[in-house]
Amino acid sequence: MDAQVPRIVVVGGGAGGLNLVTRLSRSLGRKGRADITLVDENLSHIWKPSLHEFAAGTKGPEEEISFLEHSNRNGYKFRLGRFAGIDYQERWVMLDPVLGAEDVELSPARAAPYDVLVLAIGSRSNDFGTPGVIEHCLFLDTPTEAKRLQSEILNLCLRMETGALENEKGSIRLAIVGGGATGVELAAELREATEQLGRNGIDKLRIPDSVGISVIEGSDRLVGALPENISKKVLNELGSLSVDVLLGTRVTRVTEKTLEFGDGSSLEAQIIVWAAGIQSNKALASAADLEVGSLGRLRVRPTLQTTHQDRIFVMGDAADCLWQEMNSPLPPRAQVASQQAAFLEEQLKRWVRGDDLKEFRYTDHGSLVALSSSSAIGSLMGRALGTMTLKGWLARRAYKYLHYRHEAAVQGHFRALLRTVLSMAMRRVRPRLKLH
Ligand SMILES: Cc1cc2nc3c(=O)[nH]c(=O)nc-3n(C[C@H](O)[C@H](O)[C@H](O)COP(=O)(O)OP(=O)(O)OC[C@H]3O[C@@H](n4cnc5c(N)ncnc54)[C@H](O)[C@@H]3O)c2cc1C
Repeated sequence: MDAQVPRIVVVGGGAGGLNLVTRLSRSLGRKGRADITLVDENLSHIWKPSLHEFAAGTKGPEEEISFLEHSNRNGYKFRLGRFAGIDYQERWVMLDPVLGAEDVELSPARAAPYDVLVLAIGSRSNDFGTPGVIEHCLFLDTPTEAKRLQSEILNLCLRMETGALENEKGSIRLAIVGGGATGVELAAELREATEQLGRNGIDKLRIPDSVGISVIEGSDRLVGALPENISKKVLNELGSLSVDVLLGTRVTRVTEKTLEFGDGSSLEAQIIVWAAGIQSNKALASAADLEVGSLGRLRVRPTLQTTHQDRIFVMGDAADCLWQEMNSPLPPRAQVASQQAAFLEEQLKRWVRGDDLKEFRYTDHGSLVALSSSSAIGSLMGRALGTMTLKGWLARRAYKYLHYRHEAAVQGHFRALLRTVLSMAMRRVRPRLKLH
């Protein structure tokens, strides 16, 4: 490649980063107008909004996208590495080693040179400093954590069936802290998954009330980011799935298998999942010199450049970007990340041409919350539609369409369609749940 061609490095191949890198490869990389590199600490991509389905076992490895294969097909470079900081003078992204099974080093500490750097490394759950959370809770931030949760739930159910679980009550409880979209979607998915396990040979799960599922929320309503009428509908829907919801309940401490609440009461649960809000990815702390904003995320200008470094852009959950219309930071949503990917493609084309940069404007198209394989609730917004509340099968189709749009953006329509058909066909020939 021509040494004069600008080197664009995107760190993080998630909902925003993979979308951006695919677009840049098509519009700049393949035409020889830029050298595109993606860095990620994982070898494959899972669309984060579907992590709860991996955790419940309703989605499996066939839904993952291999970075090696995707980069080869789309004509960009993939580098395995964990973001560890930036050398602003030399313009290097510093990468920590990535270890595989049994701590074998898969990639050494190394550095990737850049002319333009885009940070897209997402966010992590926020434990708000609550004692015991790190030690005793499971999380749903990464594919590895989702797979661990899936195997812990399956093991718990198996132990219950075989009698290996010493449990006088004869029932188990799964508790989810956080009644946002993540917690609510996970609760509904787990209800469906445990019922499915009951139909797949774990007979004890067929006994009524054998699996209790609780959602604990500190505020007085579920999915607080959505309109109040939708919160009520979600609450009713969870009630119909026999999910217990504790509103206005603050967790003050977590010990092994117990949640302690502000009013002195407590709840025992064999598995506790922490899904209460987000904070910045800890790796961002190593990007010294960059201004930090809300929730520890990197503050950006409306152009999505960091406040101190013109050559560094931040997108998605990692960015603290002002939502001008609301005078608040943009929410951590896949919708924001994908709009920023489309914007940054054009922005970086301007940068390469030496044109003036433009300002990002977010358009809220509404939000949908999935409540099982056949139902969802939410609102869609559009100029022609106004705000429209959707519920049930139609909402679930609209929710699935969001994932399809992401697939189409990173795989192309033909492949996305093929993958959808394949995944529907696979459901006919293999168990609906991952059972190992
Ligand atoms: C269960 C769940 C359900 C959700 N549902 C919805 C929904 O319905 N609608 C919605 O709009 N949003 C939803 N979200 C939020 C949405 O997933 C995020 O807002 C979105 O994924 C953010 O995109 P991103 O590209 O910024 O980060 P991510 O998609 O999180 O991608 C980050 C990438 O960076 C990589 N990475 C992380 N750290 C490093 C490092 N140190 N070095 C190198 N690479 C690194 C990761 O491997 C990953 O590939 C949901 C989230 C969860 C967890």
